Amino acid sequence: MGVQKMGISDTGSTDAARVLDAVATDLLIGGSWERAVSGATFPVHDPATGEELTRVADASPEDGQRALDAAVAAQRDFAATSPRDRYDMLMKAFDLLTERIDDLALLMTLEMGKPLPESRGEITYAAEFFRHFAGEALRIDGGYQTAPAGGARFLVTKQPVGPCLLITPWNFPMAMGTRKIGPAIAAGCTSVIKPAAQTPLSMLALGQILIEAGVPAGVVNIVTTTDAGGVMEPLIKSGKARKLSFTGSTKVGKVLLEQCADKVLRTSMELGGNAPFVVFEDADLDEAVAGAMAAKMRNMGEACTAANRIYVHRDVAEEFAQRMADTMSALRVGPGVAEGTQVGPLIDDAGRSKVVDLVADATERGARVLTGGTAPEGAGFFYPPTVLLDVSPDARMASEEIFGPVASIIPFDTEEEVVEAANDTAYGLVSYVFTNDLRRALRVAEGLESGMVGLNQGVVSNPAAPFGGIKESGLGREGGNVGIDEFLEVKYIGISV
Ligand code: NAP
Repeated sequence: MGVQKMGISDTGSTDAARVLDAVATDLLIGGSWERAVSGATFPVHDPATGEELTRVADASPEDGQRALDAAVAAQRDFAATSPRDRYDMLMKAFDLLTERIDDLALLMTLEMGKPLPESRGEITYAAEFFRHFAGEALRIDGGYQTAPAGGARFLVTKQPVGPCLLITPWNFPMAMGTRKIGPAIAAGCTSVIKPAAQTPLSMLALGQILIEAGVPAGVVNIVTTTDAGGVMEPLIKSGKARKLSFTGSTKVGKVLLEQCADKVLRTSMELGGNAPFVVFEDADLDEAVAGAMAAKMRNMGEACTAANRIYVHRDVAEEFAQRMADTMSALRVGPGVAEGTQVGPLIDDAGRSKVVDLVADATERGARVLTGGTAPEGAGFFYPPTVLLDVSPDARMASEEIFGPVASIIPFDTEEEVVEAANDTAYGLVSYVFTNDLRRALRVAEGLESGMVGLNQGVVSNPAAPFGGIKESGLGREGGNVGIDEFLEVKYIGISV
């Protein structure tokens, strides 16, 4: 048996020690907090200082199995709950997330690094998935029709897929979870969720809230571990789970897709991106710079939707780049908990080293550094907002996710050329287009190979819109009115009359 903690509650003050003390650090299995069978724990670090914040249970494959068994045991009863019951649970969880936003944001900033206002933004975004899918629970539909030849009737109904495995990344530690847990609960599916080892605390706090919101024991189980592959592969191949929903890198997504083939699991894959951000010469440059700042700097650039290649028409490239450099260099970098911080640290040393290497590679290939470009000395994994102009299409950052606060600007001459360049990637998550020419806007938006396009806007994420990619950016959609279908099976009943 683990430690039963009260969870974060809205008691007014928001100091780190109190918030860390309140959050659960054990595994959530079958409605109770359990230590790992081995007793093992692992540390969670603050990326702003490198210091240990707390330790959480380090699950073994045996713990994973216990969690899946709990989800399987709870599935039948949960599938039988009414849509209104599931609506109530989700709305209660929405209310609790909203009430406790200050403490939850502090917890997220401590473990992930993003500035407090961004953490607050993520909690709001995360909570909205619950409100959205509460409504979707009430709208699960079906059909009844006469066969074309007459006589027979077709009854079509939808049923929960069954126990789900949900795996989430560290960059949006709460919202990537609610984007899966929300539709799973709405559809009547139980789940085992494995958050990223670097940011388990937000998910554990969410688990406490879900219990308080009345989600029955075993419906949501949380497994934290440093052995992601060792714990998840046997569950994927067990035949007990019916679906895997994964958000993370394309590399890991491909491994998991192979594993899912064994038992033909349903899959949803939200994978990496390499978003092109295209600014035409007729665009409103103020809007384009503001859009690029949002698309680039949300989450310090650590977002699958981050503008990775900023293509700007040659006529306005120099001016755009200079304006962007002015805006970027004015941003305040510091610990996410500090008042006024606009850019927090990157997640870890490896993340920052990758950014350092990509910038070195780009400058060696002729890119000009307009601002930033050098990692500071000292504690924490900070990297300054950086603008590079004249980045070569051969630079590594043109084909790899930068995942940092680096704007990579590539001038272009023609619409045809830029659409071809934008599509010259294995990824296809999101693209951004800035132009005041409606015909061109629609022509280019239709020609871009991505699941989503931002037209004169730098953020597309919205719980009520279908989020997802094509090509190697993934399979399926999360959010919108299609998000719940990922957790439902269609059943057709043929009726002789
Ligand atoms: P990652 O390394 O692929 O990890 C994602 C999750 O998968 C983590 O929980 C990780 O656990 C787990 N994992 C790693 N190896 C595994 C394995 N063999 N079996 C089962 N689970 C495994 O990605 P990340 O670095 O955390 O996240 C960044 C990536 O996510 C970027 O590529 C980004 O574009 C993508 N992303 C995509 C979306 C989207 O909606 N399309 C949204 C956000 C992020 P550990 O933490 O223990 O390694």
